[in-house]
Formats: sequence, structure tokens, C-alpha cells
Amino acid sequence: MRFGDAKPAPYWRETVENPVDAPPLQGDVTCDLAIIGGGFTGLWSALKATERNGDASIVVLEGGKLSNAASGRNGGFCAPSISHGVSNATQRWPGEAETLIRLGRENLDDLEADLAHHGIDGGFERNGKLNVAATPWQAEGLRAMQASYARFGIETEYLEGAALDERFNTPRYHAGLFEPNYALVNPARLVDGLAKAAMARGASLHENSLVTGMKNAADGVRLTTAEGTVLAKQVILATNASVPLLRRLRSAIIPIWDYTLVSEPLSADQLAAIGWQGRYGIADSGNQFHYFRKIADNRILWGGYDAIYYYGSKRDAHLHDRAESYETIERNFFDAFPALGGIGFTHRWGGLIDTSARLTAFVGTAFQNRVAYAMGFTGQGVSATRFAALTMLDLLEGKTTERTRLKLLSSRAVPFPPEPIRSWAVKWAQTDLAREDLTGHRSLLLRTLDKFKIGFGS
Ligand SMILES: Cc1cc2nc3c(=O)[nH]c(=O)nc-3n(C[C@H](O)[C@H](O)[C@H](O)COP(=O)(O)OP(=O)(O)OC[C@H]3O[C@@H](n4cnc5c(N)ncnc54)[C@H](O)[C@@H]3O)c2cc1C
Repeated sequence: MRFGDAKPAPYWRETVENPVDAPPLQGDVTCDLAIIGGGFTGLWSALKATERNGDASIVVLEGGKLSNAASGRNGGFCAPSISHGVSNATQRWPGEAETLIRLGRENLDDLEADLAHHGIDGGFERNGKLNVAATPWQAEGLRAMQASYARFGIETEYLEGAALDERFNTPRYHAGLFEPNYALVNPARLVDGLAKAAMARGASLHENSLVTGMKNAADGVRLTTAEGTVLAKQVILATNASVPLLRRLRSAIIPIWDYTLVSEPLSADQLAAIGWQGRYGIADSGNQFHYFRKIADNRILWGGYDAIYYYGSKRDAHLHDRAESYETIERNFFDAFPALGGIGFTHRWGGLIDTSARLTAFVGTAFQNRVAYAMGFTGQGVSATRFAALTMLDLLEGKTTERTRLKLLSSRAVPFPPEPIRSWAVKWAQTDLAREDLTGHRSLLLRTLDKFKIGFGS
């Protein structure tokens, strides 16, 4: 297999010039707002908090190095959605679907405007997304998707035959639905840019400062790290797929591992052979789906498909590299791109997704409104984290806004059962999802979960 020659580290990291290198927290400090976690959620919270109150003292505590978790390891698909897509909104929150879809589109526009305003080079490019189908039932699914998008005034273009070949020409996919309003980012540059912008506006940042304790004290919330403490008036918990510091949140998410390969740069002939004309991202339509995109020098980033859950919700660092998953996704790559038979891979990596049973984040407060949290983004947090950050700041300010009123964010996520039922249930759902991909038939189990609005995916 070719992935064996690839470097086991995220490609994105190498694209950041002069990355932030912040010292660990040492000693005891006090502040107005402490933010735990330096991914997109924590950094958007920090930046937006500096905009809302320029005088507030803000401290971000990141347990490792920036970009080493999901925010630096993702595919960079930046959706015009806060609800993990239109169909998730219509199925789970039909009463507020229209609002969710509008807010998702506004959030993407505002995110782009924020990057311009703060001079952040996050590699933002709004080139659209092509959803492709490999089977007749997936093609039907794309037709249904088009009809559902049309209800909300979302423009799409259905493609097959020569029209599809002009955009993307491989033997595996027979139909496509192009959505022009979809963006891509360079995740690690976005993390670095957000951190630098927040720091330029006065926020302090500490890397390698894992918070091991969070206590509600008389005079604030006390956080403990290896070499220091923080006494904060308010706290934002932005720890994504890590074990939540609040015990009550522990069964609301499970850690799912997702793996990625990056190819060598494609030559002009190789690109012509697969007919991928523009710089739009592509995703296939299975339950087990691949997402893929071109990156700066016409390499292909190829991720997804093999969502792995380890018994006991394991999160050990060595699981970032998994030969069996690379084998599967490499095989799928050459199945999708037989014309690229001679190409190798330069990078491989895994990352942790905080899967919730409704595929979207939930936001709430604890410790008498001193702590706000957001997690459960599942595999679509690149843009939704910004929205969640704004909602947490609204809550900490005691404001009722259109965001805080959303059932999407404020309703409780259905908890996952404890082990051993947890792994058994995940395995059962995954087997049925894989079978549906092969046959087009949705099992009784999946239809029952649908009825109770419970989902499993990445
Ligand atoms: C492989 C992969 C591909 C993905 N692709 C996409 C995609 O294309 N599009 C999309 O929209 N979404 C995608 N996602 C999801 C997206 O990356 C996440 O939803 C998003 O990055 C979450 O941001 P975050 O800040 O909440 O979490 P993270 O980036 O995980 O940041 C959380 C941070 O908290 C820190 N932390 C945890 N506990 C503590 C503690 N106790 N003390 C201090 N720090 C702590 C961690 O070290 C970490 O840096 C993908 C995810 C993965 C893993």
C-alpha cells in the first residue's frame, strides 16, 4: 500500500508561517473570562469576546499545541449551515428549519467578513461543493436533496452524463448535485490567524496548559493546570471531543476517529484525466462518505468513510494513526480514481470527532451561569463553531437572542448508553448504515432511530 510512505502528520501544519508558540500558564492569575480549549470554538469565543468588551481580561488555556486537535486536522469544508445540513434541520427541528437555514447562511457570510476585517488568511475560498452519487438510490437522494433545498430558495444544479463529466469525470460516480454557496478553508491557518487576531486585541494564550480541575468558588471559577491556576469570573468550555470537565456532559458525546490521506501533487495531465475543473470540494453520498478537495498545489485531500469507535471511548494519542483505515481509504481512492494509478501519498493523519446523537452541537451553562459550554459538532464544526461561540457569549452576558432561543442549541442531546451497550449499539448502527450503502435499504433499527430523531454519523 502506498500510504506507508506518507508522513504521519497533518499536511495543514506545514502551511502555517511563524505559528503561534505560546508559553504554558505559570503562577496564579485572575481574569474576566477564561476559555478552555484553543480550537475554533475557543478562539472564536476569544476573538468575539474582545470585540464585545475591549476592556475584559481574557485567558485562553490550550492543553496541547494549537492545531493539534480537530481544528487543525479537518477537511476544511466550511458549510453554510449550523445544523449539519438542510435535511438534518428539517428532520430534527422542522419548526425552526427555515430559521436554522437562514442563520447558517448568514454565519458563513459573517465568517468571511470577520476574516477580512481581522486580516486573517484562513485560505477561505467560496467555490461550491459537488455532492456525487455512486448508486441509483444515492442519485435519487440527490434529487430529493435538490427539492428540499429548493423549498428554502437554495440554488443547486443537478448533473449527470456529459454535464457531470465536465466537472468531474470518474467511473465511480454517475450523478452530482452542485451547491455554489459552500466554502473551503485551510484549517491550521485559520486556527493560527484567529489566535493571532485574538492576541492582537489583548487576549492571553497559553499552550501546554491542560486544565485538570474546575471548581465553582465563592469569588469565581477556579481552574487548575500543572503549573498555575486561574480565578475567572466566567469560563467557556470549548474542549470538543476530549472528556468534558463537566461530568453531566460525558454521555452526550462519543469520540469517533476519522482518517485522511493527502496525495502527491497532480500533474496537468492527471487533473485532465479526472476532469476536476474548479476548486470546489466534493463529497460522496453514502452513509460512509468520503470528502475530498484540492489543496494548494493540486494535491487531493481524501478523508472520511471509516468512522472508528474504540471500546471505552478511547482517545489515546497513538490512535491518530491507523493502518487498517488507511488501507480502506487508499483502496477507495484508487477505486474512485483509476486514472491516478501511479500516484503516491505524502501525508496521513487521524482526528477525533465529537459525535452527538443528533449530529449538531448543543450549548448550555453551568455553575450559576458562570460557565458556558458548546460541543457535539460531529463532523461539521468548521463554520458552526463560530455560531456556537457567539451563543455562549450571549448566554454569559445573560442576553436572550435569536441564537439562545434555538431548540437546536438549547435542547438536550440524547445521551449515549454506557459500555458495553455503547460499543454494541455503535457497531449495530454502523453495520446497518454500511448495508444501506450497498443495498439502498434502510433497516428497521435505523428507521426506529429516525423516528426518535436519533442519528449516528460523522
Ligand atoms: C478528521 C476530521 C475531519 C473533519 N472535517 C470537517 C470538515 O471538513 N468540515 C467541518 O465543518 N468539520 C469537520 N470536522 C469537525 C471540525 O474539525 C470540528 O467540529 C471543529 O474543529 C471543532 O472545534 P473545537 O474548537 O470545538 O474543537 P478542537 O479543535 O478539538 O479543540 C478543542 C481543544 O480543547 C483542548 N482541550 C481539551 N481538553 C482540555 C483541557 N482540559 N484543558 C485545556 N485544553 C483542553 C484540546 O487540546 C483542543 O485543542 C472534522 C473533524 C475531524 C477530526
